Amino acid sequence: MPRVDADLKLDFKDVLLRPKRSSLKSRSEVDLTRTFTFRNSKQTYTGIPIIVANMDTVGTFEMAVVMAKHAMFTAIHKHYSLEEWKLFAANHPECLEAGNVVTGEMVEELILSGADIIKVGIGPGSVCTTRIKTGVGYPQLSAVIECADSAHGLKGHIISDGGCSCPGDVAKAFGAGADFVMLGGMFAGHDQCAGEIIEKNGKKVKLFYGMSSDTAMKKHSGGVAEYRASEGRTVEVPYRGDVELTILDILGGLRSTCTYVGAAKLKELSRRTTFIRVTQQHSQVFS
Ligand code: 5GP
Repeated sequence: MPRVDADLKLDFKDVLLRPKRSSLKSRSEVDLTRTFTFRNSKQTYTGIPIIVANMDTVGTFEMAVVMAKHAMFTAIHKHYSLEEWKLFAANHPECLEAGNVVTGEMVEELILSGADIIKVGIGPGSVCTTRIKTGVGYPQLSAVIECADSAHGLKGHIISDGGCSCPGDVAKAFGAGADFVMLGGMFAGHDQCAGEIIEKNGKKVKLFYGMSSDTAMKKHSGGVAEYRASEGRTVEVPYRGDVELTILDILGGLRSTCTYVGAAKLKELSRRTTFIRVTQQHSQVFS
């Protein structure tokens, strides 16, 4: 007989972070840098742990150059040729990442099988239609809380992948215990993204699409195979210029979160986090 798990599972939109006593005098005092040594490969990482998703629209070499200036990295998409890679890359230390999963038991399985970092998220992505096409998924905030607990118990690490729509969501993902946060849609539409700027009804837009969308599969695999359905959307996003301002907006928001909850370092954010369940996140008057 199928089982029904009646435990409440939450998404970013269902919670806010409770402000706490803070002795920080300025947002500039907050340190967003983290250093991790990975469990299996023993590689060490230092940086601000926000990653651009490995989608061919946003996970570009151009994006990687700007992100690197801010000590963040880009998961480069897999459709560059070897020649293009040779032109771009120096030495990249390797650590093994696996996913995507949403349950603690799968996180443990993957870490014990040799993975360092587990990507968490099934169906939360901005251009993902997996939940519609398959009915499978898990609310992202709960997935992160549960998977971080399992990973950290084994000294592994997790990436919260997908579902962040604003800097506050990024802060909630870190608060929930994510070591890294991966973003696709929040970085779409910039100069550093692949694709042309299109003029439509006097407005400038860029295409953004899921890696399982018809668009991506036609581009890279000659179409959607008969045995599967496309699980991604293609959308036009407003052109947003240089990604630099977006990066500063995300990092500024995150520093602010830390000051509101009294975390001098990003490392302390999850320890300082108490989520409160809400029915509304913000005023809708001018939405
Ligand atoms: P976002 O930050 O845009 O909400 O989510 C980005 C994540 O969505 C990616 O890192 C990836 O895990 C996921 N994603 C990207 N393309 C697709 C797709 O076509 N289908 C599904 N199911 N997920 C996708």
